[in-house]
Parts: sequence; structure tokens; C-alpha cells
Amino acid sequence: MAHYPTVRLRRLRYNPIIRDMIRETHISKNDLIYPLFVLPGEKIKNEVKSMPKVYQMSIDVLVEECKALVELGIPAVILFGIPEHKDEVGSEAYDENGIIQRAVRAIKAEVKNLLVITDVCLCEYTSHGHCGLLRGDEILNDETVSLLAKEALTHAKAGADMIAPSDMMDGRVAEIRKALDNNGFTKTPIMSYAVKYSSGYYGPFRDAADSAPAFGDRRSHQMDIANGDEAMREAKSDVEEGADIIMVKPAGPYLDIIRRVKTELRMPTAAYQVSGEYSMIKAAGKLGWIDEQRVMMESLISIKRAGADMILTYFAKDVAKFLDKGTD
Ligand SMILES: [Zn+2]
Repeated sequence: MAHYPTVRLRRLRYNPIIRDMIRETHISKNDLIYPLFVLPGEKIKNEVKSMPKVYQMSIDVLVEECKALVELGIPAVILFGIPEHKDEVGSEAYDENGIIQRAVRAIKAEVKNLLVITDVCLCEYTSHGHCGLLRGDEILNDETVSLLAKEALTHAKAGADMIAPSDMMDGRVAEIRKALDNNGFTKTPIMSYAVKYSSGYYGPFRDAADSAPAFGDRRSHQMDIANGDEAMREAKSDVEEGADIIMVKPAGPYLDIIRRVKTELRMPTAAYQVSGEYSMIKAAGKLGWIDEQRVMMESLISIKRAGADMILTYFAKDVAKFLDKGTD
């Protein structure tokens, strides 16, 4: 093997044209999925306190936002709902006229060329804020799974292009697949939150989606942050149950897991750059402690380099605008 001084790795770094030519990882608008929060009412656009430039929107505002996203070249959104009423069993999650079902119908009626993905879970809809039905303080698995399948089906019927279960109950991908297939939605893909850690980085999201648990935490279903092999078991079981895309969440602190999912499973892989990752970059940028735009791009390129094919990120609009400027 050749060594210095024959080999000089800096040779390829002097000329910016060469640097561009040998760049291995690129972010394009096609990689981006933008999360949106919808709530009942009209003409509402509330900024989420802990997430600058992220809003809870009523359906009318949401539809206009979706049109603007298409203009910007963002290909996909994922919807989270804040319901009119919450109850013990999360009824609005699987109500044909629930907030998400109405939002999907409204977007589909007015916006073309936008992929609409829906998040499937109960925590935004339950009065106790947990992801499933409770018996005492236990979150029931199988009983919850049948409600999730019902929820997914109402989303598909409303026109959702893809279903994304985020609950982390065992067996839910199989049940959702079955419910979709039995009702003629054989072509609707499932993007599974297969590897979802019980993470402190979700803090700001709970403001946005109004979904903080009233007591306890999510450690009985979300994964221990310390585990990697278990993440592979989670991901493999979702593949076997029929998941089409495997998601890792959060993204930045779990790049090793994204890489393992990609190399060990060879599946289309999504990564969710979560609220805390976004808010920390925004906050430090605002304080002038980091160059926000530069760190935003670095965070996303790192997620892509780790193996993600697509990234759910609150930065999607900022990135699209940045790419339009054609600078780097
Ligand atoms: Zn949940």
C-alpha cells in the first residue's frame, strides 16, 4: 500500500470543484418529510413555544401550508392530530370524522403531488396521554393493537398515501397490514416506527402534539436507549410483519442504529430528526453559539451518511430554501 508522500489526501481538498465531485453524500428535497400538527377550529396558527417556526394549524391553514410546501418542492408530509375531545380510549383516533381523517380529506381535495403520511398512535387522543388502553397503570398491548388497526384503516379510507404506526406495541404492523388488505388497501405502504427509543429528545414534541403522559412514562413500550441488538430484533420483526419502510427515531444520537438497520436489513430506511434535535440547534443558533444553517445541514448530511434514505425533519422548509439558493 502506498504511503505519504506518494499519497496526499489533501490533494483532493484544495480545489472546490474537485471537492464537489468527490462529495459522497447529498441532501435533496426528495429526502424530506415534513411533520405537521393539525387541530380543530378555523384560521388558527399557533407557534409551538419550544419549537420556533413550527405551528399547530387548523385545517384551512394546513391546506394552504401544504400548497406552499409543494411550491417549495417538499414531496411529503406526516400529520399529527390534536383532537377536539380526549377520552380514556382515544375515540377520536379512529373516528371517521376525527381531526386527522378530516385533514387528510381536505388536503387530498385541494393539493396535488403531495404524499400524505399519517402517524398512527393513541397518545394524542387519550385523556391520560398514554399510547394505548390502560388497565390500572399497565398499557395493554393486544387490545390497543386492534384500535390502532381501526385507526389506520380510517386514515387510508380518508385518502392517506402511507400509514406510519408510532406506538411500539408488539404485533401492530401485522394487524394494520391485515386491516388494510382486508379492506382493499393492498397498495398502501406502512412506514413503521420500528426502532423508537424512550428518549428525552421528544420533550418539545409533547408541547406541539399536546401528548405528555399524565403519569408514568413510555418505558414499557419504547426502547431502552442503551440497546442496539434489540433494535435489530424490533426492526426484523416489523419487516416480517410486512413493514415497507423501517424508521429509526430519534436520528442524530442514533446514527449507529441507522447504519446497522441499513446494512443488516437492506430495507428502505427512514430517520426521524426529532423535536429536541431541532430545538437545540434552533436555540443555540438564536444565541449565536453556532451557525444554525451550517449545523442544520451537517446534522442532516450525517443522518443521510449513516444510511437513511429519507428524513423526517422540522427543518424541511429551511433546507428546501437553502438548496434553492444553491450554496453550501
Ligand atoms: Zn404514542
